[in-house]
Amino acid sequence: MTSNADLFARAQQVIPGGVNSPVRAFRSVGGTPRFFTRGAGARVWDIEDKSYLDYVGSWGPLIAGHAHPKVIDAVVRAASKGLSFGAPTEAEVEIAERLCRLTPSLEQARLVSSGTEATMSAIRLARGYTGRNLLVKFEGCYHGHSDSLLVKAGSGLLTFGNPSSGGVPKEIARCTCALPYNDVESLEKFFRAQGDEVAALIVEPIAGNMNLVIPDAEFLESARSLTQKHGAILIFDEVMTGFRVGISSAQGLFGITPDLSTFGKVIGGGMPLAAFGGRRNIMEKISPQGSVYQAGTLSGNPVAVAAGLATLEIIEEPGFYEVLSARAKLLCEGLNRAAQRQNLPFCAQSIGGMFGLYFMPAVPRSFADVLCADTTAFRQFFHAMLDAGHYFAPSAFEAGFVSAAHSEDDLSATLTAAERVFAELS
Ligand SMILES: *Cc1c(COP(=O)(O)O)cnc(C)c1O
Repeated sequence: MTSNADLFARAQQVIPGGVNSPVRAFRSVGGTPRFFTRGAGARVWDIEDKSYLDYVGSWGPLIAGHAHPKVIDAVVRAASKGLSFGAPTEAEVEIAERLCRLTPSLEQARLVSSGTEATMSAIRLARGYTGRNLLVKFEGCYHGHSDSLLVKAGSGLLTFGNPSSGGVPKEIARCTCALPYNDVESLEKFFRAQGDEVAALIVEPIAGNMNLVIPDAEFLESARSLTQKHGAILIFDEVMTGFRVGISSAQGLFGITPDLSTFGKVIGGGMPLAAFGGRRNIMEKISPQGSVYQAGTLSGNPVAVAAGLATLEIIEEPGFYEVLSARAKLLCEGLNRAAQRQNLPFCAQSIGGMFGLYFMPAVPRSFADVLCADTTAFRQFFHAMLDAGHYFAPSAFEAGFVSAAHSEDDLSATLTAAERVFAELS
């Protein structure tokens, strides 16, 4: 039988670092990445045929669990009719209608193939619309890997200790200002000084790329009012939170209407699909109507759209989010109780179907807080849980995910394992 280690050695010969996305390489926790062969419901199997309860869910998309029969069926049906046309299809119209119906701030949406493309395009659009260059983002927020957005960009970069990426021209990085997350005062100060130069403010309305950080409502409210006052575009990057924290996403939970929003992950149900959208008078600046160019050979790919539509149908079933939220809460409350019994400086919290595990005494409120986590304790927890068949994200700076396929029994099994691991840690 091929082992994970053998395959990783082979992979490193022909793929940089052996992986096609850096955090997969286990660099921050050490050890060998698992090579998966299949998934079903809440479980995945690696190439050594060991199974794991999966709390990564492909980093968020798999809200219905692995290989959900309705999603797979939709994909197979779509694929059998052809993989791509490079011409419009009815299903693209349906998914755009559905996104606009579920998200009141969206009057129009354009489909793309990754979250990176969605945020990059939304920013170009905001710059084209306002005729300004300056971009405001927040420390620890990740918005994909386009040049303008790789400044103080959260987990992936944090894991490797670089504030920002190599290969990004200083001239481009200079157009991006990174402010502290969840800090109203510095936001107000910045806008007082330079608000009229700002094309767009982009924010994860609930941060999920520096572990999970839930901001104060006041922070997002001031982002809304300051951008409005200064004629800048407010972009909510809901690539992770969209349809993950609730049916109306983070903007629905906070009752805030951004000008533009980006989606990805859940809306593709595990296929490469993402979108950006918002107010009609902004969206109509995009080509072919407007002068802001944006395009994609595989945009709105019929197989990806089929997976997305099937996933959106599942999450619209009555009670879906009640069950999902209750499951995530059950996990976090159980972990909190187990840690308390051991007097371990650990806490956990969830919102909708996402959660944060923190090796520190209190829930973090900012990027600076997040950096105080005990990464050594996390590493020990991660590997002990992995050995016991519970797959958490291989970094202390990532959010976790439950799916609707995680049963109460699954969660109990994870809690039992965690209880033992916490006892060893304390
Ligand atoms: C994952 C993510 C992205 C990037 O999406 P990709 O599909 O990986 O390009 C952008 N923004 C946020 C908030 C994300 O979580």
